[in-house]
Amino acid sequence: MELRLTEIFHSLQGESRTVGRPTVFVRLTGCPQRCVWCDTEYAFSGGEKWSLAAILEEVAALGAQYVTVTGGEPLAQPSCLPLLKTLCDEGYQVSLETGGAMDIAGVDERVSVVMDLKAPGSGEQHNNRLSNIALLKAHHQVKFVLADRKDYDWARFMLDQYQLHQRVSDVLFSPVQGTLAPGDLANWIVEDRLPVRFQLQLHKLLWNDARGR
Ligand code: SF4
Repeated sequence: MELRLTEIFHSLQGESRTVGRPTVFVRLTGCPQRCVWCDTEYAFSGGEKWSLAAILEEVAALGAQYVTVTGGEPLAQPSCLPLLKTLCDEGYQVSLETGGAMDIAGVDERVSVVMDLKAPGSGEQHNNRLSNIALLKAHHQVKFVLADRKDYDWARFMLDQYQLHQRVSDVLFSPVQGTLAPGDLANWIVEDRLPVRFQLQLHKLLWNDARGR
């Protein structure tokens, strides 16, 4: 079994409820979506083929207990599912970052899924796979990346419509860096008393989004 990888590295978790924890990132190559504000376009193509055994060896050598499988869109490669299962079997705490367009039904139950719902400003709203919402579990998370007030109002509607905060441990609201002022988003959440977690991407604050950090 082989997967196409853009990079494997050790850093601090930059977002989600485990933000700040030392984590190994396995970044799979390829994504069928094209969010206008995507910050990992370098993962759209290229990469190298790795065997599952080689990935496990590298993850072990990097030495963290938390592993995040990300992309690109990891679920675009069918072998992502056995990778996730094997990482769980090896005793790692595993999370999966997925863009919300692909079916999460086959993901190992032990994995903490962090699923995006793409707001209108991403240009990818039409690809949200809404049937995934019924598959969300209490240890999963839903992430909205928001470019403007219109995106915020849409996310607030989705939160209410699907009672997302009742389904998952955390609903995450993030501003698009350089597009929506973080203070504006924070103020809207406070004013509306939304049951969500505001977040900034730690790796951008610490390392200005350098690759491999
Ligand atoms: S789904 Fe993720 S990797 Fe794909 S274009 Fe959107 S932000 Fe980029």
